[in-house]
Amino acid sequence: MHLRALGRLAVVIVLDKSKGACEPRYGGGDVVIAEVRQNRIDGHGAVSQHGNTICRGANAINRCAWEMEKVTTLPFRALSWCGGVWMQFRTSGRAVLAGLAIALGVAASAQEHASKAGAFNPALPLVHVEHGSNSAAAQKAHYVVLVSLDGFRWDYAKRDGATHLLALGKQGAWAPEGMLPSYPSLTFPNHFTIVTGLYPEHHGLVANNFYDETKQARYANNDPSAVTDGNWYSGVPLWSLAEGQGMHTACLFWPGSEAEIAGQRPTWYARFDEKTEGTDAVQQARIDDAVGLLRMPEADRPHLITIYYSEPDHEGHSFGPDAPETKAAVKKMDAMIGKLKAALDKTKLPIDLVVVSDHGMIKAEDGWVTLDKFANLDGFEAVGPLLYGKSEEDRVRVYNQLKKASSQFVVYRRKDVPGGMNYNKNPRTGDPVIVAMGPYAIRAREPAAGKTDQPPNAGIHGLDPGRFPQMKASFFAAGPDIVSGKTVAPFANVNLYPWMAHMLGLTAPKTDGILNILAGTLRDGGGDAAPAESVNQN
Ligand SMILES: [Zn+2]
Ligand SMILES: [Zn+2]
Repeated sequence: MHLRALGRLAVVIVLDKSKGACEPRYGGGDVVIAEVRQNRIDGHGAVSQHGNTICRGANAINRCAWEMEKVTTLPFRALSWCGGVWMQFRTSGRAVLAGLAIALGVAASAQEHASKAGAFNPALPLVHVEHGSNSAAAQKAHYVVLVSLDGFRWDYAKRDGATHLLALGKQGAWAPEGMLPSYPSLTFPNHFTIVTGLYPEHHGLVANNFYDETKQARYANNDPSAVTDGNWYSGVPLWSLAEGQGMHTACLFWPGSEAEIAGQRPTWYARFDEKTEGTDAVQQARIDDAVGLLRMPEADRPHLITIYYSEPDHEGHSFGPDAPETKAAVKKMDAMIGKLKAALDKTKLPIDLVVVSDHGMIKAEDGWVTLDKFANLDGFEAVGPLLYGKSEEDRVRVYNQLKKASSQFVVYRRKDVPGGMNYNKNPRTGDPVIVAMGPYAIRAREPAAGKTDQPPNAGIHGLDPGRFPQMKASFFAAGPDIVSGKTVAPFANVNLYPWMAHMLGLTAPKTDGILNILAGTLRDGGGDAAPAESVNQN
């Protein structure tokens, strides 16, 4: 797959033989050329390496469009361009395809010489969104590669001798006592907090799974139709902030990155696939694609790249935080960071590498705590431990029934959840609100009759990090913007947002985070940044 400029204003699209589906149609070595002049496309003829002519003569663009349209109807549902990207067509038809050809032509003409060096063959199934070129200012900006290691507890690196992470922290900055996740210390809420600077009650993902009374709908982090629907999310994710300011971004996965949020999408994003997630191939592909993107021409290169790894969370749940399997996953992820760092160094670009986690892990105690054993939840909508009373009468009743029911949890009316937890304003948290007082897995009800009941995981998270230090997350960062050999005291993860925006030279909106918290890690001390006001710091 190649996108090449053949002289001024010309585009060559080589259809992807390696994916197979093009091959029978075009017989191998397939090239489409559309020559673009101003806003008009003239057919110019095309000859592949194998001499397979697809477009020629005055009607060539019609023919090209026809051929391309045919491609989109093939079972693999996409036409690839520019290095193997699956570009998904929602609409077919000549006008749309001609529009694509114009866009390609403009992009190619802008990068005529550089494109040969910048051919990008993604290993992941990436979606590309056409955003023109990086602005002149963006091209001068530094780069941030943000990596999340899911469930990498704050003390794992030292405990298990994660030499690459510890070296990264020594070269730059790290939080030896950990970083504070937001409540609840769950995956989606915290990943989205990291990229928005907002507490979960402000960005809307108050749990991995929850109910919205206004929408009368459920959000579930394993439901593709929910995660790709931007209406569930509030705030301006860092990638949307960057794209809105003329800077390309790429999400080699991150929770929320498959939806259009704040009117923007990343220029490149990966579709999450549960089946391949966690495989060695995908883990390596995220590194290879990050480097491939950074080797693109300056006009196209993303300046913010996010990378996600589902380990060691997976092992922490299955075996517990102290199990040998979890320690092995820590070492494996550390080696992955070592590989990534070496690969990024080779690009010689000014890259700030930021490695964080979303939360920690604690060994679960006891079995399930099932709330409807203590209270009559008839008429309640419930998602996990979240309770949505339909009437005030019901809420009061269940609150009273649960109030003295158990020492394993406390129950609050939503408005009375302690302010420091930042969890008392969003109706999506339900009412009343249950807060675990220990490493207990809490749920509203047992599974429906006929469904098997599984015991809780060996390791769990989600607890209040103010009460359970095992929930604390990791923070390591080094690069041209970061002071060497700096340690930072535990800080709330909302503060990463203004800090990363600053390193990218972006103007950030007011959020729950402030730049001052991490300014001491910055070589420029965070200077020249617009002062932001603190909201609910803790
Ligand atoms: Zn997680
Ligand atoms: Zn987890």
